[in-house]
Amino acid sequence: MRMTRRNSLKFLATLGVVAATLFGAVGTGKAVATPSVTVVATTSMVADAVRQVGGDRVAVTALMGPGVDPHAYRQTRSDIAAMLKADAVLWHGLYLEAQLEDFLLELAERKPVYAVGEAVSRDRLIAHSDYDNRYDPHVWMDPMLWQSVVLAVRDALSEIDPDGSETYTAGAERHLAEVEALNAYAEARLETVSAGQRVLVTAHDAFSYFGRAFDFEVLGIQGISTESEAGLRRIEELVDFLVERDISAVFVESSVSERNIRALIEGAAARGHTVTVGGELFSDAMGKSGSYEGTYIGMIDHNVTGITRALGGDAPAEGMQGRLGLGS
Ligand code: ZN
Repeated sequence: MRMTRRNSLKFLATLGVVAATLFGAVGTGKAVATPSVTVVATTSMVADAVRQVGGDRVAVTALMGPGVDPHAYRQTRSDIAAMLKADAVLWHGLYLEAQLEDFLLELAERKPVYAVGEAVSRDRLIAHSDYDNRYDPHVWMDPMLWQSVVLAVRDALSEIDPDGSETYTAGAERHLAEVEALNAYAEARLETVSAGQRVLVTAHDAFSYFGRAFDFEVLGIQGISTESEAGLRRIEELVDFLVERDISAVFVESSVSERNIRALIEGAAARGHTVTVGGELFSDAMGKSGSYEGTYIGMIDHNVTGITRALGGDAPAEGMQGRLGLGS
């Protein structure tokens, strides 16, 4: 149908009525949920906590998507615009976002900015190997520590939007129960890995909290930050270790180059010891958004299940997915 000018004006007027009706429905509440608060989160893990706690009440965007390394990430011009526009910015802190820190501290003087990773109690933090007075930021690797972050997200959202505090309290409670179930699953599965195989060799030191929580020895080729250099000597040390301890699997990470892990495997092969890649772990970023691994629960489940199976333990291939009704 071809529209005359008059008809199209009429059509627009009709659209206007439809729009007014729709907005009216929004105004009266329940039928259509409109977010009350806009939040920018730095990492996808923090964004997921906001989503879990805030539900439809909060519109959240993450600056860093799948495969993005937070240690090296620098803000883009559109990130800055989004952060300036948002009601609040939630970041991890503990020097994880090393390149964003100056900007975020400055922004904190102008609007609500929360470093939610820093809610973890000091005495539960592991000291940073490269800096005095700094801590290992990878606290999400221990679900019980992550619970403190979920609570900090609840408190931050309640402060920005006090009318929603009941929603946030309920959302946090529900998610904390899921995180607890995740922890129980992780304990039960990882326990099935035999004592001699309880070793996790990864591209960088992101798994110290995991190791402490679940009793694994953890060795990264690079240090706590991916910005540190992995020397040839470190590779040689780890090759010795793999051969002497008869470790058969090492792991790559979605947000870190595989190059060093390949060097390890080749080094071990040259000594007549076969090491395979036990799978890809999510260390500093979650999986694809919209997928199960694109949630905090799915990310840790993927790691736990993959590590258990690669090191000869007992875990279902599908992990705990579905048990919480979270499956995609
Ligand atoms: Zn890291």
